[in-house]
Amino acid sequence: MKGVIFEGKHKVSLRDDLTKPEMEQDEVLINVKKVGICGTDVGSYEKGGPYFPDKIIGHEFSGEIVEIGKTVKKLKIGKRVTVNPQKPCGECYYCFHHQENMCKLQNYALGTTEDGAMRNFINVKAERVHVLPDNVSYENGAIVEPLSIALNAVIESGFKIGEYATVMGAGPIGLFVIQILRVAGAKKIFVLEPVESKQQKALEMGADKASDPKNWARIRRSTEGLGPDHIYDCVGLSSTISTSLSLIKKGGCITLIGMHSNSFEINNALLLTTNSITLKGVYGYTQDIFKTAINLLEQGKIDGGSIISSHIAIEEVPRMFEKLSNPPHDELKVIVDIE
Ligand SMILES: [Zn+2]
Ligand SMILES: [Zn+2]
Repeated sequence: MKGVIFEGKHKVSLRDDLTKPEMEQDEVLINVKKVGICGTDVGSYEKGGPYFPDKIIGHEFSGEIVEIGKTVKKLKIGKRVTVNPQKPCGECYYCFHHQENMCKLQNYALGTTEDGAMRNFINVKAERVHVLPDNVSYENGAIVEPLSIALNAVIESGFKIGEYATVMGAGPIGLFVIQILRVAGAKKIFVLEPVESKQQKALEMGADKASDPKNWARIRRSTEGLGPDHIYDCVGLSSTISTSLSLIKKGGCITLIGMHSNSFEINNALLLTTNSITLKGVYGYTQDIFKTAINLLEQGKIDGGSIISSHIAIEEVPRMFEKLSNPPHDELKVIVDIE
């Protein structure tokens, strides 16, 4: 069996001698079809972690069930599925309060701390498996996970119909946030993104205006001189947080989705208090959000293909990691077709 292993800093490698996994009673075996490469995969490749070394990568995926454990009742062989890769404990305070994204084992997940899906077969707990509706392709099945991240962010931010929003960064998560805001009834959506091809994509996805981040002050003029009610920071740099603090409407909410560093220098942090700004962090998603993401794809409200820039074979993965870790490049979501 083929698979891609994370070995450490600047090292992911293809192996073709992996053994087909064994399955437990409460698990199913999935023949993997499509796997997305995520920004956090590339981040771990660049920094040498936090992913555990010698684990198979891949947490955004879809496939077909080929075997079923003895105690599994609700799933059948032949079903097309995607999988929530988080592995919450099911016993802690947060798990009991439907906040599994905040479980004490928060960072345990397939493809990061445990073997993931970039291989021919994966065994997973049946309760993490979500069946895909007939009109949701394997390709769209593999983007349910990043869509869930974007959906969780917009829901947690408390966005309301008729509000102004700004999205910082038009990568895969930013493009999904734009589409969700459209569905959620945004008055106008402004996007700040330096790469021109990504600005264009943002407009295609329903943004009203997309411009270079240095032109951020123009957004104030387009929002009745007040600034947007919500800003979604899908970049997470000191500069994007500073711009957000200067731009947001008084009393508005900045939602931080991406974070690139443990410490930030913010030269205008005083605005947080003087302008009564809410700075909100969001992380992961719950099973309910995963289901809602699938439903939005089923209804055609979200264009999953819109964020996919390339399809590659599993043999091309190591080279693609090199490309993705050398920006600027024009890739959005890269999908690995597992044969
Ligand atoms: Zn991801
Ligand atoms: Zn827990």
